[in-house]
This record gives sequence, C-alpha cells and structure tokens, in this order.
Amino acid sequence: MAPVLAHLSLASAELPWKVPKTLSSSYKDKMQDEMVSAMLVGNPEFGAILESATYYVGLMVIRPGVDYPRHAHDAAETFSVLRGEATWWKEGEGTRVVRPGEAVVHESKRGHGVVTGEEELVCLYLWGPGGPGAELLGRYWFTNDEGGCVDCGISGMEWAKGGVCCVGCGR
Ligand SMILES: [Zn+2]
Ligand SMILES: [Zn+2]
Repeated sequence: MAPVLAHLSLASAELPWKVPKTLSSSYKDKMQDEMVSAMLVGNPEFGAILESATYYVGLMVIRPGVDYPRHAHDAAETFSVLRGEATWWKEGEGTRVVRPGEAVVHESKRGHGVVTGEEELVCLYLWGPGGPGAELLGRYWFTNDEGGCVDCGISGMEWAKGGVCCVGCGR
C-alpha cells in the first residue's frame, strides 16, 4: 500500500492506514490497490482511536486517475475534500468536480461514484446510519451508470420508495 501514500506527508503520521475490506469482497477486489483509509472514530478493531458503533470518521486517500466504481449502500456518507480534486457522480444529479473545501453527501441507497484527478485525492469521510432499517454496516452494492443495481436494475431511489432490490431480499 505504500505507493498510494508516496507523495503524502500524512504517510509518516502514526495513523491506522488500512485497505478497506469490511464492506464487501467485490469492493476489496476492485479497490485494494487504489486506496487506503484510516479510521479515527469507529471500530477499534479497524484502528479507530475513539470507539463508536454509530459513526465511522476517518481519512481516505485514492490514487490519481482512479475510477471508484458506482455503488450505493444503506449507510449515509459525507466526503469533504482536503487535497486533490475529483469528478463525482450522484444518482439523479449527474457529475460535478469537487475541490478542497467542498463536500459531497450521499444519502442512504443513493448511487454514487468518483473519478480522481491528476493528484491523489485526500478526503475526510463520515459514515453514519441511513435511517430506519439502513444500518451503518448494512447492505452495499454496485450500480449501473444510472444508479440501478447491477444485478436487478432497481435504483436506490426507487428502492428507497418501496421497490425491492435483489440486494434487499438476498440477505
Ligand atoms: Zn459510498
Ligand atoms: Zn438488485
């Protein structure tokens, strides 16, 4: 994982940098060489300094030129960009460039994805519960370009309104 952090002064800090692997095996396969994160608040088993079962807060670094696949999850998520810039896509809103000082919010089940620019992207992340039945470590699935589940096509927004996705009934 060292190359991801090669140009980052944070690399020398004693932070619990890890390749995220708790969300899903397919996520791990797609992203394990492209990003690292350090959990500061959350589960001490993942390195968190402050324990919380309700929120995960930490730092995330993604290599330049990486297409983080479009996906959705039960958790609600906020990213604040600290360094670098990226093109963010959000279901129902299209794409926009996000720069340091700006944040993106992904509501529960809402499809989203990011393509990083020419520099490493460094973000602060906040993961929290997405509402009733949408837990912090709930479901996680990849979506097509419109935000529909890659397996059944139902979008997170439709699902949130009462549609049934294969992810939802498959567990
Ligand atoms: Zn996400
Ligand atoms: Zn589905």
